[in-house]
Amino acid sequence: FNQHSSRLRIATQKSGRLSQESQALFTSCGLKINLREQRLIAHVENMDIDILRVRDDDIPGLVMDGVCDLGIVGENVLEEESLQRQLDNEPCDYDILSRLSFGGCRLSIAVQQEADYQGPTSLAGKTIATTYPRLLNRYLKQQGVQARIVNLKGSVEVAPRAGLADAICDLVSTGATLEANGLREVEVIYRSKAVLIQRKNVSDAAQLKIINTLMPRISAVMQANE
Ligand code: ATP
Ligand code: ZN
Repeated sequence: FNQHSSRLRIATQKSGRLSQESQALFTSCGLKINLREQRLIAHVENMDIDILRVRDDDIPGLVMDGVCDLGIVGENVLEEESLQRQLDNEPCDYDILSRLSFGGCRLSIAVQQEADYQGPTSLAGKTIATTYPRLLNRYLKQQGVQARIVNLKGSVEVAPRAGLADAICDLVSTGATLEANGLREVEVIYRSKAVLIQRKNVSDAAQLKIINTLMPRISAVMQANE
């Protein structure tokens, strides 16, 4: 795995909601992946591609820092990392090559079932727990609402019951998790899907050739899934 090889490096989620469908996409595109569990890097046998398997949160940074050439990640994670990097004056450039047909979810604000909620202004002065503080902050600013944001990496949905927050801002797909925790979805602040991103300034001819081979195949698979 050397920095100067022209093998294309693609960052994907190691295990989680995006990993199976990312794998399936590669397979549908004709990549023969030598996948032994627990390995950080999987080599593609029939193309000059290496698949890097990491936490989804690390994927935007790996691409923005140019350590990986492509990545598959949820727009929610991508946008959160972009906002944070803009704030920190860190590199946050990338191109979106394709919006994918999986990983759909929404980032929503939810309050306790019995809470009085009249709209975003009801959140004023409240404490909201989330894994997406930058996206939530942007929304609150747009709404002109001042609230306190508590950043939790996990177990966000239990925060109200635990007395840690009045509301949460978390990813929802069916709403079953919210309901199971006595919560009610009141605002959708961001709609997300998985996207394929590329680092800026890919100039290696061999890498460009692989990307140009891959893209029509990905489009075809996405169209077939529609
Ligand atoms: P990792 O261990 O890689 O950090 P994670 O627990 O942060 O994993 P997952 O729960 O596997 O992440 O979700 C990965 C992505 O899947 C989310 O960022 C989001 O884009 C998408 N997703 C789709 N539906 C949902 C959902 N119902 N809940 C959470 N994420 C969802
Ligand atoms: Zn994660």
